[in-house]
Amino acid sequence: MSHSEPVWAVTLFSQMNILGIGIATLDIINTVDGYPAEDSEVRAVRQQQRRGGNVTNTLAVLSQQGHCCSWAGVLANEPDTQYIIDDLKCHNIDYRYCRHITGGKAPASYITLNQRNGSRTIVHYRNLPEFDFPNFNMIDLAPYDWVHFEGRNIEETRKMLEKCAAKNLSLPRSLEVEKVRPGIETLFRLANVLLFSKDYAARQGFDNGTDFLHFIRKQAPHAILVCAWGTQGASAMDANGSVFASRAYPPAKVIDTTGAGDVFNAGIIDGLLRNQELEQTLSAACRLAGHKCGIPGINGLLRSYPGPVAF
Ligand code: ADP
Repeated sequence: MSHSEPVWAVTLFSQMNILGIGIATLDIINTVDGYPAEDSEVRAVRQQQRRGGNVTNTLAVLSQQGHCCSWAGVLANEPDTQYIIDDLKCHNIDYRYCRHITGGKAPASYITLNQRNGSRTIVHYRNLPEFDFPNFNMIDLAPYDWVHFEGRNIEETRKMLEKCAAKNLSLPRSLEVEKVRPGIETLFRLANVLLFSKDYAARQGFDNGTDFLHFIRKQAPHAILVCAWGTQGASAMDANGSVFASRAYPPAKVIDTTGAGDVFNAGIIDGLLRNQELEQTLSAACRLAGHKCGIPGINGLLRSYPGPVAF
């Protein structure tokens, strides 16, 4: 492969090996008929439990898309963890590189889902340590074609990205930038693909993804930049500075927007791994994420997807 080609370029699609670094959570979802007022009491219409966490959601979709996925994170030795493990197994996600901790609690996200409009409001509880570089360093990276990182635990993630970026490895890597975190910008130059949230862009003072991507370009001169913007769709900028935009693809009825961004990220990674054009990849990711908004959760997402399915 010549130096000017993207490092992830492949001519024919084959199953790719993808490693994800981030967290897995237990999500408790209370569906309510309208978002409650503060200091009020309401009954949930329904309660569900799911495995959540951005990176593991993205891997669960990539696995449905035919890829071979591994997750490395931290698992607490406590009963709720079994639920997380069972779901990972269901999605054929390998978790052999996880660190097991005694005495911690599985990360939990308490989600209030408004059935009138599909909006989700989330309270997180976290008390586990983050997956760190010494644990990452024990992973045999040779089989992997791509590594996807959640933009958290900045110092440790920087070391992991640097290892992947080293000349002797040059492993393609994407970074999700969902939240404003001190120092997160220092990671930008280390990733091939940056996946920004609307929340992050809005916190920088922008009201649309395209303007934001022009602004952020100088901090990551060589990366593919992507910014999702909810019902407005998403924007992307390729390494040459060309910008593309896609509208959103709303389902007939919005049922559940939880994890739409994680599904969108899977769509982007999948399209790039298949060496599709960025413009096509962007609209396919918006279509897939829009389809997700019409179903609860992400199980069976691809089974119920009318297409276009790219494989
Ligand atoms: P997050 O789930 O992280 O908050 P977004 O809300 O930006 O992320 O959504 C990610 C992508 O999902 C958007 O770019 C869009 O394509 C799609 N999406 C989100 N909400 C809707 C919706 N209500 N209707 C259709 N598509 C949506």
